Amino acid sequence: MQELIWINGEVMPLADATVSVEDRGFQFADGVYEVARVYNGRCFALRPHVDRLERSAGGIKLALNLPKGQLAGAIESLVERSGLSDGIVYVQLTRGVCARNHVFPAPDSCRPTLLFYTRKLPRPGPVGSGDGIALVTVNDVRWRLCWIKSIALLANVLAKNEAAAAGAEEAVFVDDGYVSECSTSNLFFVFGGKLVTHPVGAKVLPGITREYLIECARDLRIAVEERPVREDEVTRAEEIFISSTTREVSWVSKWNGRPVGGTRCGAVTEKVHRALRERIAQETGVNAAPVVA
Ligand code: PMP
Repeated sequence: MQELIWINGEVMPLADATVSVEDRGFQFADGVYEVARVYNGRCFALRPHVDRLERSAGGIKLALNLPKGQLAGAIESLVERSGLSDGIVYVQLTRGVCARNHVFPAPDSCRPTLLFYTRKLPRPGPVGSGDGIALVTVNDVRWRLCWIKSIALLANVLAKNEAAAAGAEEAVFVDDGYVSECSTSNLFFVFGGKLVTHPVGAKVLPGITREYLIECARDLRIAVEERPVREDEVTRAEEIFISSTTREVSWVSKWNGRPVGGTRCGAVTEKVHRALRERIAQETGVNAAPVVA
């Protein structure tokens, strides 16, 4: 497998690609991105990822400079050409290269920088495996446009590093006593058998995995409620898990160093994760049976 990049229509080894110092992505974080999963050489949920990229771009007043179908096709071709079996595709769109100025360049004077590249990543392990992950809370200092998948990720980077320094896997953003999402994932609780997660929008990214899991839960006749959860409710949760494209689902066993959500992966978590694996299998043809990473 070779890590390849498609950059403004050219394909080359990832290590050979360069971007100008005056790319607005580099100077202003003026751009948006996506991460899509590849299973068995096939992209999962590519269309929703491309749709979200377009919505994010719209959120920063930037247009996708390639029709969505063409972009999806080019991504699939790059995956095939790179020989990637299991991994990710990283997609990024910035406003492009022009003389540094906060004011947007005139539309015709600046070509957006569009790129995507492939990278190997093992598939997540069997559903419900492991000892559960640890979360720590951090103050949410992010902007209020979290539905935009912006490349301005410094608040998330700082939060993730706080978690790492505490020996935890993920940081949970807390604002005014309410928990929203994690630095790189969405957050779910089970209360009274019902799946509860914060609504998307100002404080929460519309995660693609989140959307699939909600659909899976509804198919399984598991009630879903979208509402903010107070941090003091967390100890009452029967189950807690987080979700993202790269990890799928991880069950949570510790919150700020204290045991939460049971001592093994809960039944609802396991059911919705299995159902997600079925969807992955349907779309990509991979075996839905648990895979050892
Ligand atoms: N929230 C944040 C802040 C994230 O960075 C991610 C990962 N992209 C998610 C949620 C999960 O989104 P998805 O399921 O689309 O990967």
